[in-house]
Amino acid sequence: MNQASETRRAHASPLFAGLPGDIGVSFEFFPPKTEKMEETLWDSVLTLAPLAPRFVSVTYGAGGTTRERTHNTVARIVRETGIPAAAHLTCVEATKDEIAEVADAYWQAGVRHIVALRGDPPGGATKFTPHPQGYANAVELVAGLRELHPFELSVSAYPETHPDAANPAADLDNLKRKLDAGATRAITQFFFEPDTFFRFQDA
Ligand SMILES: Cc1cc2nc3c(=O)[nH]c(=O)nc-3n(C[C@H](O)[C@H](O)[C@H](O)COP(=O)(O)OP(=O)(O)OC[C@H]3O[C@@H](n4cnc5c(N)ncnc54)[C@H](O)[C@@H]3O)c2cc1C
Repeated sequence: MNQASETRRAHASPLFAGLPGDIGVSFEFFPPKTEKMEETLWDSVLTLAPLAPRFVSVTYGAGGTTRERTHNTVARIVRETGIPAAAHLTCVEATKDEIAEVADAYWQAGVRHIVALRGDPPGGATKFTPHPQGYANAVELVAGLRELHPFELSVSAYPETHPDAANPAADLDNLKRKLDAGATRAITQFFFEPDTFFRFQDA
């Protein structure tokens, strides 16, 4: 039995019958590289749709390497399903004009939610260096996108602290700046202990 049919069987069982609409979930997908992966992705989207996710999002490859594929995937979800879909977007190796172009194309395609990220330095570099005509970090990206279109903007948060942060308090200050710049939701990175998340949420 493949994963999708197993999930379908689980949804149909009495144990999960009350779940759709009753839990606040979102799902993150990465853009498919091949036709076969596209089929699997689409099968997964349709399998998960009955859970009525608040939104699904599609990741963005380092340096915009998945620019087309991320766009096509998000646009197709918006076009063919009723699920609100978000596109991840990073500042890596892009000018502000190029980012505006990508954002405009999303707006034209009916995408109203962007997960705005700085991104990781390309090629295994340890320090992030902004493009000379680009955004230096997610705070600037959020502010830039805010001026373009009234997108819903989500940003990242790190219950275990981002490695670039001087300390946990500085990381929280950075999150506050992103929210002050216009983000309305933070999505956390993985954490391994629930307590880590609850302490972070309290802070
Ligand atoms: C939910 C989620 C989804 C993601 N999706 C993707 C994706 O699709 N594609 C991808 O390439 N990556 C993705 N990432 C990874 C992300 O790009 C990296 O973690 C990246 O290193 C940081 O991006 P950010 O938006 O958190 O950066 P920012 O919030 O801009 O900053 C990162 C850290 O640097 C420090 N910092 C920033 N600005 C300053 C400043 N002015 N002074 C001092 N310190 C500062 C802060 O402490 C902060 O924690 C995702 C991460 C998460 C949590």
